[in-house]
Amino acid sequence: MELYKNIFIKRNLYTCTVLNKEALKSSKSRSASSHRWLTRQLKDPYVEKARQENYRCRSAFKLLEINKRFNILTPGLVVVDCGAAPGSWTQVALKLTNAIGKDEDKAVGRVFAIDRLPIHPIDGATILGNADFTLPNTQSTLKQLLNGQPVDVVLSDMAPNATGVRQLDHDKIMYLAYSAMKFAVEMSKVGGTFVTKVWDGQQTSEFEKDVEKFYKSIKIIRPPATRDESAEMFILAQGFKGLKQLKT
Ligand code: SAM
Repeated sequence: MELYKNIFIKRNLYTCTVLNKEALKSSKSRSASSHRWLTRQLKDPYVEKARQENYRCRSAFKLLEINKRFNILTPGLVVVDCGAAPGSWTQVALKLTNAIGKDEDKAVGRVFAIDRLPIHPIDGATILGNADFTLPNTQSTLKQLLNGQPVDVVLSDMAPNATGVRQLDHDKIMYLAYSAMKFAVEMSKVGGTFVTKVWDGQQTSEFEKDVEKFYKSIKIIRPPATRDESAEMFILAQGFKGLKQLKT
């Protein structure tokens, strides 16, 4: 019972928890959907890979795959990770920007992780847990922490709790994506990068056009680690033009 309780608390907190077979056995007595969810987790090779490589969840591989193709994270960069819990993108960003300073010959980066949920400490990251990114208070705290330092890369893997109503979920994630974009436009260095998750829908192409106004190039990416059945995709915008060059 205790094991079951822990797993489901974690499922709520960390939508991408690494699980084991014992969990599956104990879920059999629970709802069919919980059992299906656990079965899928256990069959998923990325879940096992995350466990082996010490990532807090499988999402790490989405960012690693994006980075492998586009090399967006390099030593010395300042990164803001929006919707960071449980923290696997932050772990990846810390490593690739050398934020812990492990590689003494390379520049040392900084990583800021924000989520409306609590985030367990991650060595080397500046963490803002229990903080809704869309609220002005959160963003002013973040700006204070940045202390005038422009941002090289804004990442947003933010996602609302899905209701299963496609249009509603799409609208909710677009609200989060616009909030991240507004922050990126305000705080990025010229030449900076913005990556955001969206669930494809009615507003996607308008959003792409809006992002394109501020960046030299945009790409739509579905990393291999994204599940086949998911409407998820990532918009990668590179080469922030700076606000002055914006044509109205
Ligand atoms: N990238 C994370 C990782 O690798 O560990 C996983 C992120 S998870 C898919 C989406 C996250 O977005 C959730 O932790 C959720 O709490 C967060 N989120 C949703 N709305 C948010 C908001 N308004 N402000 C901050 N975080 C939010």
